[in-house]
Amino acid sequence: MYKDLQIPRDVYNTEEHEMVRQTIQEFYKKEIAPNREAWEKQGYCSREVWKAAGELGLLNLSLSEKYGGGGLDFSFSALLIEESARLGVVSPAISMHSDIVAVYIENYGTEYLKEKYLPKMATGDLIGSLAMTEPGTGSDLRAITTNAVDKGDYWLLNGSKTFITIGYTSDFSIVACKTRPGTPQEGVSLLLVDANLEGFKKGQPFHKLGLKESDTCELFFEDIKVPKENLIGQEGKGFIHMMEELPRERLTIAIQAIGAIHGALDETIEYVQTREAFKQPIAGFQNTQFKLAEVGAQLQIHQAFVDRCVHLLAEHKLTAETASIAKYSTTDLETTAIDTCLQLFGGYGFMWEYPIARRYANARVTRIYGGTNEIMKVLISRKLLKKYFIQLKEKIKAKRAKATA
Ligand SMILES: Cc1cc2nc3c(=O)[nH]c(=O)nc-3n(C[C@H](O)[C@H](O)[C@H](O)COP(=O)(O)OP(=O)(O)OC[C@H]3O[C@@H](n4cnc5c(N)ncnc54)[C@H](O)[C@@H]3O)c2cc1C
Repeated sequence: MYKDLQIPRDVYNTEEHEMVRQTIQEFYKKEIAPNREAWEKQGYCSREVWKAAGELGLLNLSLSEKYGGGGLDFSFSALLIEESARLGVVSPAISMHSDIVAVYIENYGTEYLKEKYLPKMATGDLIGSLAMTEPGTGSDLRAITTNAVDKGDYWLLNGSKTFITIGYTSDFSIVACKTRPGTPQEGVSLLLVDANLEGFKKGQPFHKLGLKESDTCELFFEDIKVPKENLIGQEGKGFIHMMEELPRERLTIAIQAIGAIHGALDETIEYVQTREAFKQPIAGFQNTQFKLAEVGAQLQIHQAFVDRCVHLLAEHKLTAETASIAKYSTTDLETTAIDTCLQLFGGYGFMWEYPIARRYANARVTRIYGGTNEIMKVLISRKLLKKYFIQLKEKIKAKRAKATA
């Protein structure tokens, strides 16, 4: 098994981590495994499983105890993400709820918003989603057109979002919108929008290639009156807030990739020792041995980098470029490594009831969401070519100044 190859890790290694790991494993056996097929058919998981996660203390693990969170450091959230992915869990999308949406509220919300939403998120009574992407734009977030006009007592919100994880099951969404539409600055802001407000509509869960038991849908906003106090962070600074939080989101995707590769590798190691061809186990072929060695070795290298990123995040030192390296390289590896593993299952690897088939389908989106891997490379190269981009900016500025003179 991969564990026998794994070098000692300096994350998730306390007794408390081990207790959390066991809780996750029991949660998986009792609450998730028996329901997966039903959830796949309906396109979303049950409300009860969120409540069960809340009762076990698995929601908002790394958030402040003052607001009902676990009061633990980020490594516990990271463990939850990795272990869930190793087990093949994709729903409920705890990481989106606890490590992204709740964190926006804790880091940028007012005391009123923290008290109103966080304790109920910790118990699973409220589920939150994050809505940035629009039908017309995903990678270029500055081009969003959803807008909220200041009407004195409230924001009047109009627009739509798409591909929103747990959009269908969530009770509210943090929505990126422009609060000064039509002005040169336009001002991206973040509004917490309750799904029961008049004018809030949800599309049906999309039929997807993978992540079938986790809902992804469109959201429509038509003349919604959003209370003024539901602004998250500063008006017009939403883009900056998103850029500050995206490294964490990208790291969570990288951690998930590490867990998924680990799970796939273990499942394959088991399979190749029992399946026979030409009167010997598949494990007896050198090709099989080399493929497993390659996946195991790559996993080690990537895991070591991601473990380091977990520490960097805890120390508030995780940069956008480092998180981009982790996200792009682990998810690229996830798709190729799982493909390699699937090949060793032969035709059975293509059958949905085999976990490796689900893993293969689920892995594909990780190169797309949370910012595509191409955008990750844009961010990395911007750092490498910093001097070039500064000079380019100055040239454009000078050209503009000349044109307006
Ligand atoms: C299952 C799923 C769940 C999701 N969950 C959420 C969610 O919860 N919240 C949310 O807001 N969004 C969510 N998304 C949206 C996701 O983040 C976007 O799909 C992603 O950012 C890409 O945007 P796009 O689909 O508009 O692609 P586009 O921006 O149209 O990109 C199309 C292609 O062009 C490439 N491209 C674009 N710009 C450049 C460039 N400058 N240089 C090189 N190549 C470029 C892209 O890499 C991509 O290959 C989800 C998506 C999926 C599929």
